[in-house]
Amino acid sequence: MLELSANNALLINFVYVIAAALFIFGLKLLGHPSTARKGNALSSLAMLLAIVVTLLDLNIVSYQWIIIAMIAGSLVGIYAARMIAMTAMPEMVSLLNGIGGLASLFVAWSTVASPANMSLFILVVTYLALLIGGVTFSGSLVAWGKLSERIVGRPIMFKGQAIVNLLVVLAVIASGVMFVLFPEQNQYLYLAIALSLLFGVMLVIPIGGADMPVVISLLNSYSGLAACAAGFALHNNLLIVAGSLVGASGIILTQIMCKAMNRSLVNVLFSGFQSVSNEKMVIEGEVKALSADDAYYVLEAAQSVVVIPGYGMAVAQAQHAMKELQLLLENNGAEVAYAIHPVAGRMPGHMNVLLAEADVSYEQLFEMDEINKRIENFDVAIVIGANDVVNPAAREMKGSPIYGMPVINADLAKNVFVLKRGMASGFAGVDNPLFFKPNCRMVFGDAKETLNNIIRQFDK
Ligand code: NDP
Repeated sequence: MLELSANNALLINFVYVIAAALFIFGLKLLGHPSTARKGNALSSLAMLLAIVVTLLDLNIVSYQWIIIAMIAGSLVGIYAARMIAMTAMPEMVSLLNGIGGLASLFVAWSTVASPANMSLFILVVTYLALLIGGVTFSGSLVAWGKLSERIVGRPIMFKGQAIVNLLVVLAVIASGVMFVLFPEQNQYLYLAIALSLLFGVMLVIPIGGADMPVVISLLNSYSGLAACAAGFALHNNLLIVAGSLVGASGIILTQIMCKAMNRSLVNVLFSGFQSVSNEKMVIEGEVKALSADDAYYVLEAAQSVVVIPGYGMAVAQAQHAMKELQLLLENNGAEVAYAIHPVAGRMPGHMNVLLAEADVSYEQLFEMDEINKRIENFDVAIVIGANDVVNPAAREMKGSPIYGMPVINADLAKNVFVLKRGMASGFAGVDNPLFFKPNCRMVFGDAKETLNNIIRQFDK
């Protein structure tokens, strides 16, 4: 039996190494839209391998609960993934993160059920799994509530909040110490769980709803760290590796988003976006409107067109109309490229997802840095419901709150058409000098309607 168990351990660890390699390879493939599906499938396969081989563990005494949980989990997962609207994806991700955190909390809890032979190290990592798992769970629930508008989206602040937070942090530390010193006394375990949940709520309520995507990516990282700590508690190598990968990739994504929004993580977490003031900027020039019919004449003569989508394209659901216009422009002999800003829209990859839905080829999508190098060569830049991500104030106006944010330099194209409903500002709440530039024309109206009007002119 012992020999069989040693063989099993060898097999399990061997398959774990393969699964870890597949996770890393899958992550690499996730880095580009054209390979992302393959990356997802590969990582899922790795997880399946890991689960199956873990079930060979001879310490498992009862399989029926595991099988019931796997079937129930798969059914709920398939149903949720099929039913979810694309626009509600950040909410779903936040729930998934939260449940990942809760799973780590439960794993840690079950580990403490037999604390007799736990070393100090194991007790500490178990506490960390419990704490980070609890924070991730309750924090993700608040983030989900804010995104789905079940909880008020604005930052929730109250008098003495800083002191309350400090007390919570002190209590978390104290409960951790007591938990490690007296693991057999259940009251410290329950206190630690309650405090971790409270801590998660306190961390997320002061953050505005619009910053939730950044918070969710951070919580995603936390859920990885919690799983990693649970891996140490369980002596499970693959959980440690997978948790670290999730932790690291979540923090990298958080950093990319903060950089693209020209904000520090500290600013997102502790000051709320409204602290950024819209200093009075003096913008010279005048706004010139253009009808869809007149826009058609310019587009009909254009040899190259760059499309810059933003949040308004998602609101208008204008991606299919844009694809239709793209085909008409191409039939007319024009080159069409799409320029994607990393934080266009309201979630990472928002524009990629919409354009993929409309079957726009990946080869036609270009990242901001790539397109900026040659943007002045384009005859027309069509800005569809984008605002902040094309704001030249980020380059030109030192006093602007978004000064320094990397943007797509739409204003450098020969002609710019901005498709939006009015002169409203975008997410950052700052004015946009692009609209006043001599080469810019505002084509007012819902983006989808405007595009359809232009398409009708092509069809005539
Ligand atoms: P913006 O929020 O800057 O602007 C969107 C514009 O779309 C608005 O000015 C609005 O103008 C217009 N719009 C809305 N509805 C329609 C419609 N039906 N038809 C046409 N236009 C419409 O969007 P961007 O994509 O340029 O920038 C994203 C912003 O969100 C950045 O500031 C970024 O930092 C932030 N952010 C992004 C996250 C991400 O992960 N991607 C996460 C969190 C924040 P009007 O009302 O006049 O039509």
